[in-house]
Amino acid sequence: MVADVVIAGAGPNGLMLACELRLAGVHPVVLERLPEPRRENRANGLVGQVVRMLDHRGLYQPLAGKAEPPLPIPAFFFGAVPMDLHMLDDNPFYLLPVPQTRIERVLAERAAELGVEVRWGHELTGLSQHADTVNVEVTGPNGRYEISSRYVVGADGAHSTTRKLAGIGFPGAASDDIVTRIAEVAVPDEFVDPATGRLNLPVYGYISPMYHRTEQGVFAYARLPAGPDMVFTVEWTTGGIDTDASLTLEELHDSIYRVMGADLPLRPPDVRGPDRVDRSIVVNTRLADRYRDGRGPHRLDRSIGVNTRLADRYRDGRVPLVGDAAHVHFVIGGPGLNLGLQDAVNLGWKLAATIRGAAPPGLLDTYDAERRPVGERVAMHSQAQLALLAPGTEVTALRELFTELLRDQHTVAHIANMMAGADIRYEMGVRDTHQLVGRWAPDLLLETDNGPVRLAELTTTARPLLLDLTEDASLTTAADGWRDRVDTVTAHTEDASTTGLLLRPDCYIAWATDTSCPDHHDRESLRTALTTWFGPYSMTGC
Ligand SMILES: Cc1cc2nc3c(=O)[nH]c(=O)nc-3n(C[C@H](O)[C@H](O)[C@H](O)COP(=O)(O)OP(=O)(O)OC[C@H]3O[C@@H](n4cnc5c(N)ncnc54)[C@H](O)[C@@H]3O)c2cc1C
Repeated sequence: MVADVVIAGAGPNGLMLACELRLAGVHPVVLERLPEPRRENRANGLVGQVVRMLDHRGLYQPLAGKAEPPLPIPAFFFGAVPMDLHMLDDNPFYLLPVPQTRIERVLAERAAELGVEVRWGHELTGLSQHADTVNVEVTGPNGRYEISSRYVVGADGAHSTTRKLAGIGFPGAASDDIVTRIAEVAVPDEFVDPATGRLNLPVYGYISPMYHRTEQGVFAYARLPAGPDMVFTVEWTTGGIDTDASLTLEELHDSIYRVMGADLPLRPPDVRGPDRVDRSIVVNTRLADRYRDGRGPHRLDRSIGVNTRLADRYRDGRVPLVGDAAHVHFVIGGPGLNLGLQDAVNLGWKLAATIRGAAPPGLLDTYDAERRPVGERVAMHSQAQLALLAPGTEVTALRELFTELLRDQHTVAHIANMMAGADIRYEMGVRDTHQLVGRWAPDLLLETDNGPVRLAELTTTARPLLLDLTEDASLTTAADGWRDRVDTVTAHTEDASTTGLLLRPDCYIAWATDTSCPDHHDRESLRTALTTWFGPYSMTGC
């Protein structure tokens, strides 16, 4: 036995899970088939609830490069239909515009600080489940070997070997006629307004840096602060493509012309800074390629087809899946890491408690029960957005309707909460009638004996937390018997009428009470919640 958990894949979700497991006291070994951290970039940012989650783990600040907490953004889009988020009283939309290479670097550094072993150049090639263990076959730089562990997690991406070896199906839909082209290019400066970043597209006029849909397809442009210009098109035909040939600038130029009717000059990007060489990419595509301008690799890719798939179960016995191994979907709106990183945070503490023998019955089952519906919802809204981007006059009519609907505050709130993943409400089984139970914990500003603190700053240890906001700290004693597993903080807040919150390590509220509850010191229901999520009363916890 060499590890509590073997994680296949040192992508963002495997690394995040490794950190969560270490925080919860178990020892993962991460196998990564690449010989070193990948240099190719994928995501250009994180969108939604995941930004707050990273703040609650102390990871937002190193990623954002600033000390302030995250703030919601004023506008976003649904299927390239703009949404004005100003109109929302409680805007759930957070954005962290950092490249995935940087996210992976920060997570790898955090994992190293926590003592996680990452074996670069080691590929999981086989597994067999037994009553108490899983045997894993690995091919490493010095040949094949086997290790044994209590659990094996598939964080090995869309084509997950772990998922296939565990016999977990990956059903879904494929749209084979969609062609996506993406490139790092240089657009001549005279076409870009330096003050706003807007592109002056010949014939079309000024357009803002977001997705634009016409009856011929989709175009997007962005001038990245320290990097090149990004150009992106989507078309609904594979006709005329030489699938054996790589994407060229001419092909991209012609695609923009077909979609927008504009003749936009493109050339290979200049090298403007050290980050530039990190920004090449090979996407999961049959036709991925890149070009070199003699000074470094740049992203120039064509991919054919869009897959929307969800694992038919998120765990088979001792083999759970996280991230792209469990779900793939269209990339619009950037839901991938919002979904995957929160899978990892949901699974980490449950798996650790199970391995430590501290889990109440059925705890690990709640991973699939809670996270698979969230994946289904992303599959739904990413497909809905794809439909809104498709060519045709009927779609244009549908978009007009959506444009009208998205002037309504309630509709914007509904869609924004769905896209951000802020509408999640997990079944907690106890006192579900309180409006906060099952929901993400609000970032209350608290006054403690040690001074003011945000709730997010109390959750970085990833331990269960009882927040006692009563005048007489009367909830704290009710948690005697769980002190070995649950931290307690007494505090005051002006932010809410809340008098008590019990947070799971993933920062979802397992129990809550406030001044309006007739039984707001209901110790019995608190103890029921403690037992449900963290196991029974124990003398060692007193
Ligand atoms: C072009 C593009 C743009 C995107 N833009 C965004 C965006 O803006 N925002 C967003 O949130 N998401 C975006 N995504 C999605 C995001 O990149 C993925 O959701 C994310 O990379 C998934 O992380 P992961 O850790 O699950 O898998 P991966 O990142 O795929 O990592 C899996 C790792 O497992 C390793 N591996 C595979 N097989 C084995 C094996 N058998 N043994 C050991 N190791 C193995 C791989 O080498 C890899 O390092 C984008 C994706 C693409 C392709």
